[in-house]
Amino acid sequence: MNLLNFTTPFPDEQSCKLKWKEMRDKAGIVCPHCGSTAHYWKSDKECYECKKCKYRQSLRCNTIMHM
Ligand SMILES: [Zn+2]
Repeated sequence: MNLLNFTTPFPDEQSCKLKWKEMRDKAGIVCPHCGSTAHYWKSDKECYECKKCKYRQSLRCNTIMHM
């Protein structure tokens, strides 16, 4: 799966975020800081937090992720 080809429009930001999270969950999240793949999902802040080093990755639908 190539996330860079992810250009489908969404009616609102929330549905975009949910779809983006779904894709991120499927693709797997890797911490850029320590390389761990274990993360918590912080729904209040809409970001992933690394279980090892607490590094946070925000969930953004208008930002191209660097894989
Ligand atoms: Zn980490």
